Amino acid sequence: MLELKTQVQYLNGVGPIMAEKLQRLGIKTVRDLLFYFPKRWDDFSKPQEIRKLQIGQDVIIKAKVFQIKQSRTRRKWMSIIEAILTDDSGQIKAIWFNQAFLMKILTLGSEWLFAGRVGFDRNQNVKTLNVFQYEKDPIILSIYAETAGLTSKYLRKIIKPIISQLDNLIDDFLPPDILKSEDLIDLSNALKNVHFPYKTQDIQIAKKRLGFDELFLISLRMSKIKKELATENAPKMETDEKLLQDFVLHLPFQLTDAQRRSAWEIIKDLNRKIPMNRLLEGDVGSGKTVVATMAVLVAKNNNSQSVWLAPTEILANQHFQNVSKTLALSKIRVGLFTSANKKADLRKDDLIIGTHALLQKNLSFNRLGLIIIDEQHRFGVKQRAHLRNQGNLIPHLLSMTATPIPRTLALTLYGDLDISIIDEMPRNRKKIITRVVKPEERQKAYEFIKDQIKNGRQVFVICPLIEAKEKNMINLFEADRKSAVQEFEKLSRNIFPDLKIGLLHGKLQSKEKAEIMRKFAQGKLDILVSTAVVEVGIDIANATVMMIEGADRFGLAQLHQFRGRVGRGQYQSFCFLFSEDPSENTKERLDAMVNCNNGFQLAEIDLQMRGPGEFVGIRQSGLPDLKIASLSDIVLIKRTRILAEKIVTQGIEKYPKLTAKLKEYETQRHLE
Ligand code: ADP
Ligand code: MG
Repeated sequence: MLELKTQVQYLNGVGPIMAEKLQRLGIKTVRDLLFYFPKRWDDFSKPQEIRKLQIGQDVIIKAKVFQIKQSRTRRKWMSIIEAILTDDSGQIKAIWFNQAFLMKILTLGSEWLFAGRVGFDRNQNVKTLNVFQYEKDPIILSIYAETAGLTSKYLRKIIKPIISQLDNLIDDFLPPDILKSEDLIDLSNALKNVHFPYKTQDIQIAKKRLGFDELFLISLRMSKIKKELATENAPKMETDEKLLQDFVLHLPFQLTDAQRRSAWEIIKDLNRKIPMNRLLEGDVGSGKTVVATMAVLVAKNNNSQSVWLAPTEILANQHFQNVSKTLALSKIRVGLFTSANKKADLRKDDLIIGTHALLQKNLSFNRLGLIIIDEQHRFGVKQRAHLRNQGNLIPHLLSMTATPIPRTLALTLYGDLDISIIDEMPRNRKKIITRVVKPEERQKAYEFIKDQIKNGRQVFVICPLIEAKEKNMINLFEADRKSAVQEFEKLSRNIFPDLKIGLLHGKLQSKEKAEIMRKFAQGKLDILVSTAVVEVGIDIANATVMMIEGADRFGLAQLHQFRGRVGRGQYQSFCFLFSEDPSENTKERLDAMVNCNNGFQLAEIDLQMRGPGEFVGIRQSGLPDLKIASLSDIVLIKRTRILAEKIVTQGIEKYPKLTAKLKEYETQRHLE
């Protein structure tokens, strides 16, 4: 009997060879097949006149069978059916091989809709139609992403018989009351309509249901995580306002309003018995560090230890130095713990700054109450539970990111987190001057760079690729992508032979990477040529020029992050954008970079122009694989979120099928 988990290779028309091809599309089971949605639908419901058909087109005609005859090939004795199809405007010839049964169906004079590709028969000097499909009723054809030797026609052919069994296969996990309140069709019908729509409207209705499912399951999962966490206990930390005021007073600058607001939100969280789970978002240089430091202060004052995780050794060192300085007046013991440097005293230090080396299983803290994570959005619930302290309390968690994630996106991706946003830069910042550099101005840009370096400054050059792509990958656009390696060679040999240039890319060992970064940070290199791997958060006050090759290849949020690598010291800094793509779209995007200095605004612009797939850091941290819904669909996102919260609060167990579906969804996501 057919089941969702049946392997596709046992389906009619699928042998081992086709099964392997299907697997290339990620299709292993009947379920995968059903949820392999068309990438578009060709509406053949408006037939064209035969007279006007162009060779090579995919068309649909409405025509009568004017003549039809069957014969046999001499070799192999194959059946051939040849027919002349006519409409009011003209006639066309169609041929079928080995489908003798058609003689009984396509009777003389009967009228059909034929979908097919127009060809030409040179011998007889007539147009031909290679018929994909014939139907009595107007049809819309689903077109799928194909792979070699596996066509949409084939996919439709193997999906069709399953569709007639959907009622046995699919047990809708959405309860009827939700279907009703959300005005959704049931899942069987949605699947049927998405693959074999009868009219355009069917597609919309099917997409509405399937898109709802995608966002609803994400929301449910987030709500559930949030609810589970809220049943745990964390150390409740009292706020000593005098202490914080004192600290702020002694800072060498005034906090921005956004910093104050964020700090306050965090401190209020710490004051609760349930674990904080908060994301602090703020542009590069917006001053997240000092906000987090205030949380450390509160923790220490409540006799709790804090751990501060940085993504790399260099950043851990940098934080250690800066934070120690900031906390110099407070009596806080700060330790450093990385794989190279384990000087911290995990039992006695109040704050331990380090890398993920701090998460090794055998380490134990005395009274850990706060975890701060830099540049990583998510921290596993299990990882965290593992850091329970005595009394079985779970530490509070503060993640920080410079990736400007638009609100809507954050609601979906981080629905289990509370979010604080620093959307304001310290006032004293010099604006980085951004320019799009035309190809003919390249030489001038190089001269400018020479000048900067002569004055003791340093320069980043970012390239989109590591090496020239493999031969078979080269196409018009790929070919002219700048590669870091080539650029490095060009700059060292031809342009700046007297300067010290370093090369950084993802294929280097992490030790080599760290070594090059260190050299650059110490001023031993003038120019650093790098792919996108260049550290987020690295602070090189002396770097004043960020030059980005192939700027059109990057998302705006990412370009903005690159730009944030300069302008961190007292010097006026510059960002030069190079692009060989003359399109309007690219021009508009790069102009946005020139005119806008706010990461959140840029992220919104990019979300509108390019969709959500392009956010740095998000892809790695699990951008959900949405096939139908869009992460910019604010209305649906909000709706599913509210509904999910309601259901989780009431107790999702009331809906056994939904509970089972969520579990299945969680295991799938987990395996990925
Ligand atoms: P990020 O948010 O990228 O982590 P940092 O916390 O490293 O930014 O801050 C960048 C720099 O700005 C640091 O040198 C910090 O001391 C300084 N800074 C932070 N807040 C302010 C402020 N309100 N006014 C002026 N300078 C500030
Ligand atoms: Mg930072």
